[in-house]
Amino acid sequence: MSKKLSFFALAVCLLAILQAGCQTNPVTGKKQLILVSPEQEKKMGLDYSKEVEKTLGQSVKDEQLQNYINSVGQKIAIVSHAPDYGFSYKAIDHNSVNAFALPGGYIYITTGLLEQLSSEAQMASVLGHETAHVTARHIASQITSDYIMSVGISVLGSASSGAGSLGQIVESLASKSFSRADEKQADAIGLGYMVKAGYTPNGMIETMEILQKQSGSRTVEFFSTHPSPENRIGLLKEQIFNNRYPTSGTIGKEEYATNVTARLKLIKSQK
Ligand SMILES: [Zn+2]
Repeated sequence: MSKKLSFFALAVCLLAILQAGCQTNPVTGKKQLILVSPEQEKKMGLDYSKEVEKTLGQSVKDEQLQNYINSVGQKIAIVSHAPDYGFSYKAIDHNSVNAFALPGGYIYITTGLLEQLSSEAQMASVLGHETAHVTARHIASQITSDYIMSVGISVLGSASSGAGSLGQIVESLASKSFSRADEKQADAIGLGYMVKAGYTPNGMIETMEILQKQSGSRTVEFFSTHPSPENRIGLLKEQIFNNRYPTSGTIGKEEYATNVTARLKLIKSQK
């Protein structure tokens, strides 16, 4: 294909994408180029979540722990911008200190991170942040930009290898990081969700402080995909002040100790 022709093909292609993919972001209310619908994203995530549980860590086989995590997650989901989306929250058995969201609202938190936390409000802050990545369509727009890149590359190179199927792109997502702007937004929206669900916003600050302390002593994978917590703590304090969030909400130390810390100890002792 001549260079001129291929550029024309790319332009036509991008135009078609633009027309098909303008969606209103439910969080910002602004029109945004997003190629995947929430339903498509859900379908991608379903297959992918099975792969993740095979490779990144087995799902923790403790009903009490899993039910607890999911119940806290659902309190967040119901006050989010997408209460009917069908979020699921699960612990996976992995030593890394990490949490992530897959396309379609599949949210995971590692046992390594759960071991570091000590209250329901702290855990709610992690689940709130990850939920916000989904509702603010950060994941969908990441899939979209990867797709446009790969379509562009394959058209320019006139390759017929089918480079960049959506499935392949989704596979590379777990290791990817969001932009700093997306992370800031996820903190702010996640903070709003946890407060709306009745938790003290201090839970998110405490989580950042815990992660910060960790950063010197061991590798915290959360940092490879997330900005360091120092700057985020200041921003969170500002948001709590500006929004006049009450700091008197639920902490849930005992609930966390019973349903997470004690269960993790029991699981370890049985290994
Ligand atoms: Zn994040």
